Amino acid sequence: MDSSFYRVEVDCPVCKESFATSRVRSKFCVVESRDTDFCVYYKGCNPIFYEAAVCPNCGYAALYGGFSEIGPEDAKNVHARIAGKWNGRDFGGERSIEDALDAYKLSLYCSQLRKDVTADIFTSICMRMAWLYRIKKDTKEENRFLAHALEHYLILYDRGDTPEKMDEITLIYLIGELNRRLGNADDAVIWFSRVVSHEMAKQKPLIVRMAREQWSVVRNTIKRG
Ligand SMILES: [Zn+2]
Repeated sequence: MDSSFYRVEVDCPVCKESFATSRVRSKFCVVESRDTDFCVYYKGCNPIFYEAAVCPNCGYAALYGGFSEIGPEDAKNVHARIAGKWNGRDFGGERSIEDALDAYKLSLYCSQLRKDVTADIFTSICMRMAWLYRIKKDTKEENRFLAHALEHYLILYDRGDTPEKMDEITLIYLIGELNRRLGNADDAVIWFSRVVSHEMAKQKPLIVRMAREQWSVVRNTIKRG
C-alpha cells in the first residue's frame, strides 16, 4: 500500500472483535473539481472509496464516522441477520471502485436492518453510491440512488430538519438540483425559486448563484423539450 493511506484499528460494536481498515491521508486528497450536487473529484486517490467501514469478522458495515454509533438492540438484530451468512471478505486494503460500491451496499443493507438509522445516514450512503456510479458512467444506477437520496432529503425537509453539516437553504438547493438531474424540470424550478427567495439568501451568495445557474439550465431544457 502506498503512503497516501494509513491504517486504523476499529472496534466492531456488533461482534466486539477489532479489525484494521484503510483511510486516505487528507494531504493526499487534492480536490480537482466539484459537480453541482457536491460530488467531489480528487487528484490521485479518492477518499469516498474508504468512507464505509466493513467488519471482516461479522459483516457489519456503516459509514466510518458513525460506525460505533449503533444501539445494543440494533447491534443484536444486525448480528442475528448477517453473521451466519457472512463470507469473511476483508475490505481493509486498497479498494477498487467495485470494492467501494460493495462496502456501501453492505452499509445500506445494515442501515435497513437498524431502527436507529436516520434519513441523514441513508442520504449520505445513497449520494456516495450515486457518485461512484457516475464515475463508472452507469447512469441508470446513478439515478436510482439519486432518487433514493431525494426521497429522504424530502422527508428531512418536511420535518423541518436538515442533514448534519448542511443548512436549510443548501438542502433546498440540493432538492432542486436532484430533481433537475432526474428530469423533474417543473419541481426543480419550484425548489430553485425557493432558494432565491429564502431568508438566508443574502448570507449564502454562492448557493444562490448555483441555484440561478441551474435554474437557467432547466429553463433551456424546457425550451428545447
Ligand atoms: Zn464485527
